[in-house]
Amino acid sequence: MQAVGRTCEACREKIRMAADGDACGTCRIAYHHACLPNDEGRCPKCRLRFGEAEEAQADRDAVRDSVLVRRGRTVLTFLLGSLAALGAATLFVSLSHEALGIGDVIRYVGELVLYYLVFTGVRWARAATAILLGISAFFLGVTALAFFANGHTIALFVVGVAMLLCAATVVALVVSPSVRWFLIAQERKRLGQD
Ligand SMILES: [Zn+2]
Ligand SMILES: [Zn+2]
Repeated sequence: MQAVGRTCEACREKIRMAADGDACGTCRIAYHHACLPNDEGRCPKCRLRFGEAEEAQADRDAVRDSVLVRRGRTVLTFLLGSLAALGAATLFVSLSHEALGIGDVIRYVGELVLYYLVFTGVRWARAATAILLGISAFFLGVTALAFFANGHTIALFVVGVAMLLCAATVVALVVSPSVRWFLIAQERKRLGQD
């Protein structure tokens, strides 16, 4: 806690310079160094080192952030990995029906690149992926309705799973705090700020 501008608990004068005093974040009181009988860098009231409460809070924040970051990594790895696997499976199905076009392959590679960029914390890739997956989820939903109407149970199941996966990824990218923290951490790592 900042000591400057606060009133010294001993002499009731203002502490004018940061170097002149210390403040206790727990007791919310400040002292001039000169007004502490034998200044050992501890608050005379609670005996904690000055700044200890803040350090403890900073430690707790760091731990909480790292837990969130790990959870975000797990969630995003699962979702993007599943989407990539689903895309690969779709290509193989097309291939086995001899219906695989070069356009399908290019689109799949584009998706993989986009997922990679999302994973490294590129902001526009995250936004683009959320929009594209949102559109995909919508069309998969329409397709699922058609299969439902025609009674194609297996096709309905496959398309339904794909739709839920797209929708879950959009939700994770847009609102999940853990994914947001993970992507911020990845961005910092990429930019060399950590
Ligand atoms: Zn004083
Ligand atoms: Zn104190």
